[in-house]
Amino acid sequence: MFDKFKDECGVFGIFGHPEAANMTYLGLYALQHRGQESAGIAASDGDQVRLAREMGYVADVFDGSTLAQLRGQLAVGHVRYSTTGESKLANAQPILIDCAHGQIAIGHNGNLVNARELREELVRQGSIFQSSSDTEVIAHLYARSKAGTVEDAIVESVSQVQGAFSLVILTQDRLIAVRDPHGFRPLALGRLDDAYVIASETCAMDLIGATYVRDVEPGEVLVVSGNGLRSLKPFPPAPLAHCIFEHVYFARPDSYVFGRSVNEVRTELGRVLAREQPVAADVVVPVPDSGVCAAMGYAEASGVPLRMGLIRNHYVGRTFIQPQQSIRHFGVKVKLNPVRSILEGKRVVLVDDSIVRGTTSRKIVRMVRAAGASEVHVRISCPPTISPCFYGVDTPRRSELIAATHTLDEIRDFIEADSVQYLSLDGLLSTVDGARASYCTSCYTGNYPVPFPRDEARYLQLALKLEQSDKDALASEEGEFVAK
Ligand code: SF4
Repeated sequence: MFDKFKDECGVFGIFGHPEAANMTYLGLYALQHRGQESAGIAASDGDQVRLAREMGYVADVFDGSTLAQLRGQLAVGHVRYSTTGESKLANAQPILIDCAHGQIAIGHNGNLVNARELREELVRQGSIFQSSSDTEVIAHLYARSKAGTVEDAIVESVSQVQGAFSLVILTQDRLIAVRDPHGFRPLALGRLDDAYVIASETCAMDLIGATYVRDVEPGEVLVVSGNGLRSLKPFPPAPLAHCIFEHVYFARPDSYVFGRSVNEVRTELGRVLAREQPVAADVVVPVPDSGVCAAMGYAEASGVPLRMGLIRNHYVGRTFIQPQQSIRHFGVKVKLNPVRSILEGKRVVLVDDSIVRGTTSRKIVRMVRAAGASEVHVRISCPPTISPCFYGVDTPRRSELIAATHTLDEIRDFIEADSVQYLSLDGLLSTVDGARASYCTSCYTGNYPVPFPRDEARYLQLALKLEQSDKDALASEEGEFVAK
């Protein structure tokens, strides 16, 4: 919503269900928050894999007749926001190819950091790419593999890519889930009667009545076939790097990711924030929906009452958002309305999960003040975002991140608040205590767990649909994003 990091992608897979495509449709429906640009389902009846994918929301892409054509007891699905590659149908997933190993459909959540190098090498060797998606690199590596079995070919191809990948893969008769050794993106295993279910988040399992069993482990390849479930661990172990921003913002609060309740972690973020950054106030107001859980925690720990002083219009689709500044400002008014009876004459603590560029925060602060608030104190439930993400999240480049270029006082002045304070990194990690070494926090620290070539950093930034002026500026900053 507004000026936010953009969600990455969501994946879903099911094996052994008579209505596999319908279940996948529902699963994707629950994962819609992870990607709104395109949706796709590939299903197999044991002989043939069929694919349907389109630009748009899940509910708009699929109808009864489309789903009826996706026959079979196994299926995979994908919702996409374009982190690498343009927003166009050719980049929609799952990707379906037919090769010497047979048909294979791939859905990918994450971002490969060595995709361009691999792609250039593959093109030199004669591969012809259909899209600009990094996921297609995996498909080409798979097709070229000389391995004797499908599993070995998948392992061989995936072993060559680096970065973040939670994959669902469908062959004619198998469902395969793969999670990168760092475990950047979530991926969970569940059961629905005799069927096996794979999903980015457990909220997708809740909707179809499936039971969460466990996470697909980092570095694990799960093969589901007529012979049951088989777990492979083909990759060398690597330091864990779960994306902490899944807990801060991306995942739905009713999901469990990385083995933890998102709601519990997010509410605790607010409690810790209240203890670290108290302020004399009359009312705690969340920026809906992203700030609600943290605001509840803040109110609970501070004793200041929580009130819904901003009302979100849920019927404005994300399609309303356009990249132009003017439209984004207008979009805030369309999407949020202040409740004067709650705000008038009050000292307000406004709780949100992040400030990206600051322009939206300023609009909201102005809106709250215009509704009569006597003071507006902004509290953010994570540390200042100072570095871009290279692991599957669409972030602006560094110079556009207000916290990377402004002091706290300057941010306060820019967003026109009486005060602004962030949660500390220690405070953030305390909410996942016992596992602090398992998390990626690069966007708050600039220390990247998986190195990437200098050119790749530049390429990834260019892939984020920047203006030419941004590209020129980036060229002069080359090296700024190289792993530390
Ligand atoms: S850089 Fe930030 S958004 Fe990207 S994986 Fe790491 S914690 Fe998540």
